[in-house]
Amino acid sequence: MSKMLNVRELFPEGQLRFIAGPCAVESEEQIDAAASFLSSRGVKILRGGAYKPRTSPESFQGLAEKGLKILRKAADQYNMLVVTEVMDEENLELVGEYTDIFQIGSRNCQNFSLLRAVGKLDRPVLIKRGFGNTVEEFYQASRYISKEGNDQIIMVERGIRTFEDSTRFTLDISAVPVLKEKVKYPVLVDPSHPAGKREYVPSLTYAAVGAGADGIMIEVHPEPERAMSDARQQVDFKTFEKIYGQAMKIREAMS
Ligand code: PEP
Ligand code: MN
Repeated sequence: MSKMLNVRELFPEGQLRFIAGPCAVESEEQIDAAASFLSSRGVKILRGGAYKPRTSPESFQGLAEKGLKILRKAADQYNMLVVTEVMDEENLELVGEYTDIFQIGSRNCQNFSLLRAVGKLDRPVLIKRGFGNTVEEFYQASRYISKEGNDQIIMVERGIRTFEDSTRFTLDISAVPVLKEKVKYPVLVDPSHPAGKREYVPSLTYAAVGAGADGIMIEVHPEPERAMSDARQQVDFKTFEKIYGQAMKIREAMS
């Protein structure tokens, strides 16, 4: 965690890298299984939420510090990096004790005080597009971070709200080329949250690669149907393996 990470080294131009892991950290066994499998397939960045922004306050909110500890331990054991969400300034210091990359979730894309706060730190920030934000608003959000001095930014398209309700969100594929024209940062796509159903995750991944995404951030769970959050959209290890292989072939065909 001590060396300063460079986002362009993590996501080199013209290549495809994956960030993968479950929606939420649920147990040591779950994260160990995910990290062991994913690292063996070449994934270097482990995701998992310890603080979950849930629609209902009754839903599982995450394991908080216990979850951060579990993530850190698994990442160290399997030589991976951690990306995890920080939901508020209050928890910035605590999350910073465990994570390599701060995640700003869709609901906080325009939380300007939080953006300024992570902008003052010397650690990469992965920011997800607000589901009610235009590409321009998303771009301006990234500028709140860089203006404070931190230009180690990763931008993630994760779907927007439209009139279309056959998927959870509408993946805005065109955001990829538009953002790549505007910023020098890696532009990633999260196919899991717009899909809402695991059946759609492969197609959205392949479309993202075709659109020129530098990376994919995907929810993978050892037993998706038993997940404590986003159970319908997480893929199992076997499905991940297939998606990963196909996505890499598409990327190769493009170069
Ligand atoms: C997540 O990736 O853990 C997440 C909560 O996604 P989003 O902020 O895009 O809804
Ligand atoms: Mn999720």
